[in-house]
Amino acid sequence: MKTALEWKKYYSSPEFSDDHTYSGEDLGAVCAPGGTSFKLWSPSADSVTLNLYREGNGGEPYSSIPMEREEKGVWCWKTDDELHGVYYDFSLELEGETVRSADPYAKACGVNGERSMAVNLSRTDPEGWERDCAPQAGPERIIYELHVKEFSWDASGGFPEEYRGKYKAFTCPGTTLYNDGIHPTGLDYLQDLGVTHVQIMPAYDYGSVNEAGEETEFNWGYDPVNYNVPEGSYSTDPARGEVRIREMKEMIQALHAKGFRVIMDVVYNHTYSLDSWFQRTAPWYFYRVFDDGRISNGSACGNDVASERPMCAKYILDSVLYWTEEYHIDGFRFDLMGLLDVNLMNRIRRELDARYGKGEKLVFGEPWSAAPTAMEGEAVPALKKNISFLDENIGIFCDNTRDAIKGDALKTALPGFVNGAEGLEDLICESAGAWCRDTRKDQIRDAFQAKAPSQIITYVSAHDNQTLWDKLTETAPGEDTMRLNRMAAALYMTCQGNLFLLSGEEFARTKDGHENSFNAPISLNRLNWEQAWKESSLVEYYKGLIELRKQLPGLCDKSSQAAGRIFGVRKAPGLVSFLCDNREKGDVDNSRWKTLMVIYNSRGSAVEIGLPDGEWEVLSDEKNSFLWKDAVCAGKQILAEEKSVTVLGSRKVILPESVSGDSAEKRCENRGRESAEKICESGKEGRLAV
Ligand code: CA
Repeated sequence: MKTALEWKKYYSSPEFSDDHTYSGEDLGAVCAPGGTSFKLWSPSADSVTLNLYREGNGGEPYSSIPMEREEKGVWCWKTDDELHGVYYDFSLELEGETVRSADPYAKACGVNGERSMAVNLSRTDPEGWERDCAPQAGPERIIYELHVKEFSWDASGGFPEEYRGKYKAFTCPGTTLYNDGIHPTGLDYLQDLGVTHVQIMPAYDYGSVNEAGEETEFNWGYDPVNYNVPEGSYSTDPARGEVRIREMKEMIQALHAKGFRVIMDVVYNHTYSLDSWFQRTAPWYFYRVFDDGRISNGSACGNDVASERPMCAKYILDSVLYWTEEYHIDGFRFDLMGLLDVNLMNRIRRELDARYGKGEKLVFGEPWSAAPTAMEGEAVPALKKNISFLDENIGIFCDNTRDAIKGDALKTALPGFVNGAEGLEDLICESAGAWCRDTRKDQIRDAFQAKAPSQIITYVSAHDNQTLWDKLTETAPGEDTMRLNRMAAALYMTCQGNLFLLSGEEFARTKDGHENSFNAPISLNRLNWEQAWKESSLVEYYKGLIELRKQLPGLCDKSSQAAGRIFGVRKAPGLVSFLCDNREKGDVDNSRWKTLMVIYNSRGSAVEIGLPDGEWEVLSDEKNSFLWKDAVCAGKQILAEEKSVTVLGSRKVILPESVSGDSAEKRCENRGRESAEKICESGKEGRLAV
């Protein structure tokens, strides 16, 4: 066998690309009533044999058929039979060795994904699938990150025993806390909460859970084996290839029917093992290698997929399009997107836009990698620093906002703005404006500039790192954690950008401080629906914020004009406030409040803030996020309670020229802390009558 470096040299020649870049749409098994075709891209194989089996694992092939070599390194075999339900793999003669491989393009497989299965996909559609479609887009995107097994595992969820931890749990209507018939759990609960998108953590076929093992086995699933097949352990029968497909479609159908769009978490940056179907059928083509022969490991998972190579880019694009077309997926969250290249990300965006409309399918990801990667040639990694090269409808998780609000996610002891850190006012202001200003000239720490809020995922918790609750308890012991939680929530929910939260953030979810629970027991990871009920006052606070947010076009605006809406910014230690033009764009403006004022007070004492002229109503305060329902009038000043976010709305249009905010901000900076206090506060004690 050639070494990795020798392979790399071979693949890097222009002749290789010219002779072996295949553009057909028919790789894998295509199975229909009129016949079945099998196509495998394996440019270096000397021969390929297709093995057909009755079973998904074990036993010998009932037939082994030599495949024909066609153009561009593709091997083919066709039959007039509809081989639906037939399992298959390949035997390749490659560099003098015999290699067995399943199909990298497999759409179905047997237990644990070891053997592929031919499938007539129309036979896997659940009842009514042809009518399934995404709900209409609303005014805001609020993405709720959910793991299939975590969702329904706990008995408190009231799901039928046989469906706990399965796709099927999503199809159970009307679940309640321990079946009490009173307190909604599951999708009814989420509907009530008001989130708009459900992001499913890895649900393609991954390798870390034995599908034939114990039901209690758990993993997040960031270890892909078959990119185009649903994970089997979430199905009621992983041994029958069509079952997981139908059941995953049923889950998506149920989510759509309940009014949620569905986002898939995709991990194209690495594979479970370097010994993958990619590697067995085209050695080292799909992986990066450094010039000194070291295997690239920017994923910290043992390998990096070479997204910049033409057939690899095609694979990833084909896979994304397959999930949208066959499974009606509405968006993609790219794991370690910083390991993929900008060209590919923009191409995915363009192809989705061409098929479904501009920006209709969400595309966003983590704009970082775990370590340097050996990306080749002129390719540019989709890192945060390269955000200007990414389409304006490709989003990034904004760690700047996350860390400014609650403290560094990786250094668990470090606090942020809400839990006691000083000097973060500039970062909080940029967070509010979704990092769309040119911050570099202002010498802001970790400065970068987004094109529009559409590029920013605004969040304070995700599956990685501590939960928000755990972070707050560790960084602010002895403080009122519930209050800090409310402040963190109200803070990010009044920032521009796409909103995102880890499931259970709204009910003070804890993992006992665990930072990386990817393979911790399900008993630690499962959603505790009893806690959702116990912490219903916090849930209620989130609900109010979410419902309010949807009525605030000034904050929901995803366009490049959104930055211009924010004005009158004031900053003082522990204190940030700003005004926001909340009018709807276009000819008709139905906004209830024309101008907003948002006040973040992270100090340990209340502060009185003077309000610009204009009949203000308090929309949300420290403990009640539903004040907007009653149109509570504010006077000329408002008391911003300690550790609180206050949101006010005015029915009047207030223009930037009429307030002294921006200039006040400058004066604050010029004159230093003492006079800043005077400008930003009235200095009076006591609560104003509202
Ligand atoms: Ca699996």
